[in-house]
Amino acid sequence: MLKQLAEKDLLRLLERIAARRRLLTPQRQSDGSQLLLPWPGGLPELAGTPLQRKPTEVFFPQLELLMELDNSGDVRLPVPADKPVALLGLDHFDLAGIAFLDRFFLSRPIDDAYLRRRHDALLIGLSGLTGPQGATLPPAETCDLELIIVPDKLLARPHAKPGEALLEGFTAADPAALRTIDRSPAERPATLLAAARLLQEDQVPEAFWEEIAARCIACGGCNFACPTCSCFGVQDRTFGNRTERSRLWDSCQLDAFMREAGGHNPLGTETLRTRRRVYHKLVADPLRWGELGCVACGRCDRACPTGIGILALCEELVQRYGPSSVPPAPQEGCKST
Ligand code: SF4
Ligand code: SF4
Repeated sequence: MLKQLAEKDLLRLLERIAARRRLLTPQRQSDGSQLLLPWPGGLPELAGTPLQRKPTEVFFPQLELLMELDNSGDVRLPVPADKPVALLGLDHFDLAGIAFLDRFFLSRPIDDAYLRRRHDALLIGLSGLTGPQGATLPPAETCDLELIIVPDKLLARPHAKPGEALLEGFTAADPAALRTIDRSPAERPATLLAAARLLQEDQVPEAFWEEIAARCIACGGCNFACPTCSCFGVQDRTFGNRTERSRLWDSCQLDAFMREAGGHNPLGTETLRTRRRVYHKLVADPLRWGELGCVACGRCDRACPTGIGILALCEELVQRYGPSSVPPAPQEGCKST
């Protein structure tokens, strides 16, 4: 049931959550960005910029210990955190990114390390009059509990049992309050869809990728910022009689990404690697999962120092190879001169 939360109710709700979970809330930094950090108490900021870092890193961190081995042959697995986590302030992009990684890591064979962090986690979405410069954020419904900002009110709507339980005892809201804002669902940008179609129909020449790749400095920022990127490498480090096996994020834009021990590299040029980054999300993911591997959050565009994040690149691709860039075919009955 839809509830209405006054400021004191929101505080009560956060206290309820924090009593049994490690609650992370958006916190404004001195440079204006917002990060998800442990709740310091008080009212969180529920308006403004999107979260700077991808929230999927809470479940798939940059560096993660997988196991420890010692010389006696004992293997120790990491101890799960004593409390499950709760993430507050996730917009529809963030939730789409988490849903994408959930499907990747929790499809069989299930990834234990991801499950250890994701199990029993509470997701709190954010929508309504809370976007940058007062924009309305679309519904954020693939979560346990959605906070919705409408004129002069904060509403809360449960989407799963844990959300329902947390809202018990709060005042019911009139569902008509939801009609005061635009609740149209989010759609992927038309340029992204058009670019995906062109790639799926193999309409983009090699020369395009050569040009784009020449602008890539192989910093890996696009991959490290992306909530749907799931590639990682595994490393063993030995300290005395103890060895730690960890995994850490990898980037398909880096030269060593697929380089084999014998030196052969199936992705041996920046052109191949750049093309692969985009094909993976716009061609291979739809084939495997039935949907694009890009949720259009824009993080890679903000991270890329040379302006070739996926949305900018798709814009360029559609301008150059899209239907309107092709001279119209002569009409029947027209004479060419
Ligand atoms: S916009 Fe960039 S960072 Fe965001 S999901 Fe798409 S590829 Fe990843
Ligand atoms: S962020 Fe830009 S420059 Fe860096 S690896 Fe990605 S595409 Fe290349």
